[in-house]
Amino acid sequence: MNIVIVGGGFAGMNLAKQLSKNKSLNITLIDKNNYHFFPPLIYQVATAFIETSIITYPFRKMFSKAANFRFHYGELKAIDVSEKVVSTSSGEVSYDYLVLAMGTETNYFGMENVEKYAVPMKTIDDAINLRNHILRNGERAAQGHSDADRERFSTIVISGGGPTGVELAGMLAYMNKKILAKEYPEFSPNGRMRIVLVDMAPSLLGPMSKKSQQEAYEVLQDMGVEVKLNTGVKDYVDGKVIFADGSTIATDTLIWSSGVIAKEAPGLPKESIGRGRRILVDAYNKVQGVDDVFAIGDICLQTSDTAFPNGHPQLAQVAIQQGKLLAKNLDNILEKRPLEAFKYNDKGSMAIITKNKAVVDLPKFTFTGWFAWLTWLFIHIIPIAGFRNKIKLVTGWFWSFLTNNPSLRLIIRPNTQGDNKSA
Ligand SMILES: Cc1cc2nc3c(=O)[nH]c(=O)nc-3n(C[C@H](O)[C@H](O)[C@H](O)COP(=O)(O)OP(=O)(O)OC[C@H]3O[C@@H](n4cnc5c(N)ncnc54)[C@H](O)[C@@H]3O)c2cc1C
Repeated sequence: MNIVIVGGGFAGMNLAKQLSKNKSLNITLIDKNNYHFFPPLIYQVATAFIETSIITYPFRKMFSKAANFRFHYGELKAIDVSEKVVSTSSGEVSYDYLVLAMGTETNYFGMENVEKYAVPMKTIDDAINLRNHILRNGERAAQGHSDADRERFSTIVISGGGPTGVELAGMLAYMNKKILAKEYPEFSPNGRMRIVLVDMAPSLLGPMSKKSQQEAYEVLQDMGVEVKLNTGVKDYVDGKVIFADGSTIATDTLIWSSGVIAKEAPGLPKESIGRGRRILVDAYNKVQGVDDVFAIGDICLQTSDTAFPNGHPQLAQVAIQQGKLLAKNLDNILEKRPLEAFKYNDKGSMAIITKNKAVVDLPKFTFTGWFAWLTWLFIHIIPIAGFRNKIKLVTGWFWSFLTNNPSLRLIIRPNTQGDNKSA
């Protein structure tokens, strides 16, 4: 029995881990990257706080002990549901059961200039690109020949006041105070970065409790972040961000963390696709309208769970729980046993604001401050793939928070020399 999984994020990787224990199955994982990564911490890669390798893990190493597992490096291009075959950028793979778990991509809501010139924050490539961009602009600001130049290169606008935007703003403000002020004599004594966090909503951290929203707002303001609410980005023209309320800010850096849209699954019928391009699935994550195809994680929209009639939030825990349950249900299908419907067990949500400050919403109460910060750190160590990575993360954090100064601030330029274009 060939089970093909496209996408090795939280959903696909947890499914593959469970299924690979059943030796009667052949599992093929297709991914456009050769590694699994941990999105909640990419903002720390982008701000040169931790190394990329700490939050990534190669699939081949992860599954090296599973003889029934194959990895296929490639990007999904098309699904042929009648022939039961998927085409990828590197060949075709046929399946008995197919599971789609490609997650989401950045949504620019049709704003062409924003898509062209803003910096996204979704993948490891994005994080490394953003790190280079911020560091390069630090040097440009230091060398700026006019006040306008220095202003443009040292101003950062972050669009999106969800956890990613808040965490990024807090980390940049921390960098400004603790690092720029010390290492860039051109900017001393207080650092120079102007950080503006903008959101269309009337509060930060939209789905979280009022207490968490207020705490995030106050802590960021105390750290010097300008928080601009009730207005969104309308355009980004000639190095100027234009807001819906008519105001503008000149900047070379617009970071876009304002929304996502499900990855495309070409070949599925139109009737199987719902809001936000998410794939419509039943209570067992089977794609509506096609046989033997399932979808899990951020890419799917499941409205059968009575506690979430509009679909689940696009969060890691939903993806993990759906991946694990689908492994059980595929086994139930093969053994002709009844299937178990998915019900999300909501364990709460959290966001870090800066050193010593975080917010944690549990189903019954909210807590903030130092203890919330420790809880956030602890909870984010558990799902990191690989024991060595967990140890590196703990020691890296310990050192960075103790010294207030990690030393990863390298501008690394991509070089394609050696790529054989004729191959
Ligand atoms: C910056 C950021 C911070 C976040 N912070 C949090 C947080 O603090 N807490 C939380 O609960 N959630 C957080 N999330 C959301 C969480 O990461 C997602 O809900 C979760 O990753 C969804 O898992 P998934 O497996 O569905 O998709 P993903 O984790 O996105 O995995 C998709 C996989 O599919 C692969 N893929 C994509 N397209 C293709 C293709 N065409 N062909 C082949 N492979 C493909 C990708 O390489 C990837 O490996 C955050 C997300 C981001 C971007």
